[in-house]
Amino acid sequence: MSRMVYLAGRIVPEEQALVSVFDHGLLYGDGVFEGIRVYNDRVFLLQEHIDRLYESARAIRLQVPLPPDQLSQAVEDTVKANQISNGYVRLIVTRGSGTLGLDIRRTADPQVIIIADTISLYPAEYYRDGLKLVTASTIRNHSAALSPRIKSLNYLNNILAKIEGTDAGCVEALMLNHKGEVAECTGDNLFIVKNGQLITPPPEAGILEGITRNAVMNLARNAGISVTEKALVRHDIFVADECFLTGTAAEVIPVTSLDGRVIDDGKPGPVTEQLLGLFRQMTSGE
Ligand code: PMP
Repeated sequence: MSRMVYLAGRIVPEEQALVSVFDHGLLYGDGVFEGIRVYNDRVFLLQEHIDRLYESARAIRLQVPLPPDQLSQAVEDTVKANQISNGYVRLIVTRGSGTLGLDIRRTADPQVIIIADTISLYPAEYYRDGLKLVTASTIRNHSAALSPRIKSLNYLNNILAKIEGTDAGCVEALMLNHKGEVAECTGDNLFIVKNGQLITPPPEAGILEGITRNAVMNLARNAGISVTEKALVRHDIFVADECFLTGTAAEVIPVTSLDGRVIDDGKPGPVTEQLLGLFRQMTSGE
């Protein structure tokens, strides 16, 4: 069955959802996006994703051509049109088509695109056994060059690090910032557990503030687990009691080694499992 795609105010078959080759989203990666989950017919944390999208757009001086409530409705409508009960939404706003040149004043018609699709999940054994990570030599973008807090269409920084991970046989790779501190993985945020406390790098470490990260921090605090945002280095991960990643696709996924150093006993830890359980309760609407 052909997917139905939202484009420029209409929901059309994917074959008709076409954007210009002069769109600066294609030419320069000039645009912003969100990846959102659908669980049991509900678009999960939609308001949080909409808020982050408009913040990303504001940071690159891109005017989203419709108000947030209409965009939320368009997401809901696209999910329904595709009869997605459990799946994934990709929401994109491009700069629009223009002349060959960087000047945003020479562009018109920012394009709003919404794709609703099924999602292929990580295999269950990753959750049971944990991921092995390597540190990429590609550092995360310096926030004075391109802030990682902007979820922009320009993902080459992460893609280059992901290539290093894949070459090393890992599904994720750790990215450090220009100071050598831990930032995040190529598409996931990172947490450690030390002496019962949850620790994760702060936004200033050069991270995307993940919606899943925020949700997990709240779940932890409500469960009486202390949460600290603090600069981390690789050594902190080597000697952590537990380590896990969070992300829209991955949810909460244990990490059991970094650069060949086994973390604690090499098995997913109890706090990680507790938080994965709480997160899955939240996604199932309990
Ligand atoms: N960091 C990066 C670089 C990401 O691209 C993502 C999302 N794919 C995340 C972290 C996790 O964010 P979220 O929980 O909002 O999916």
